[in-house]
Amino acid sequence: MPCNLPPLDAHAHIAGDVTQAQLDALGGAVVFAMTRSVNEARYALRPAGAVAANVVWAIGVHPGVPVSLAQHSPEAFAGELDRFALAGEVGLAGRSSETQTNVFRSVLESAADHPVLVSVHSAGARTEVLDEIARHSLPGVVLHWFNGTQAEFDRAIELGCWFSVNAAMSDATLRMVPPDRLLTETDFPAARRKTLAARPGDVREIESRLVALGRTDVRTQVWRNLASLVEEAGVMTKLPSAVQQVIHSATQG
Ligand SMILES: [Zn+2]
Repeated sequence: MPCNLPPLDAHAHIAGDVTQAQLDALGGAVVFAMTRSVNEARYALRPAGAVAANVVWAIGVHPGVPVSLAQHSPEAFAGELDRFALAGEVGLAGRSSETQTNVFRSVLESAADHPVLVSVHSAGARTEVLDEIARHSLPGVVLHWFNGTQAEFDRAIELGCWFSVNAAMSDATLRMVPPDRLLTETDFPAARRKTLAARPGDVREIESRLVALGRTDVRTQVWRNLASLVEEAGVMTKLPSAVQQVIHSATQG
């Protein structure tokens, strides 16, 4: 049976000053669009900004962008969370500094007080990221591009985390992701030569990799997973109505 559900890209980067023509060029894919700072997220949602029914803007504090960390205000971040269904990009990167840890901790504290999904960066700091997640009780954490060992996956699963995966990840890592906790992503424009994504929302390569690994009904499964995640996190009504409709249709039939 052909799948009528759109592609899901649970982690991509779109600049807050994207034009309407650029958003229109994304086609029908549902894209979770990360931002690097509160200011960029605010700018993306400005009244005169480009609008697409299938783009879910996230509010971020990118751990790899020093100016975002330096300018971070926990109050400003928390004050905007009611307007966003999603926080990202947030997390720790590389040899995480005290500033990174403090910012990530304050982000998780705010997220624990508001219904919100959280797309988390953990490259080079997986243990530290899991330690921080363990300090909070959060239902909506999605580890993006998580290159964990089996023990780290086991711990993340125990903590209730979800995983968004892309085509730059190895088969060995993809095999460790439980089918019922998996979402697809591009992380566009990162690692374009490995993800083979032509644009945000272009998840063809990761979908076919998953099929090659023996996963079935990947598109349907991913949407059902998102439906469960959205319900657990209580963010359904914060999502654009077009995205809510896709989730409804994925869970019927
Ligand atoms: Zn990213």
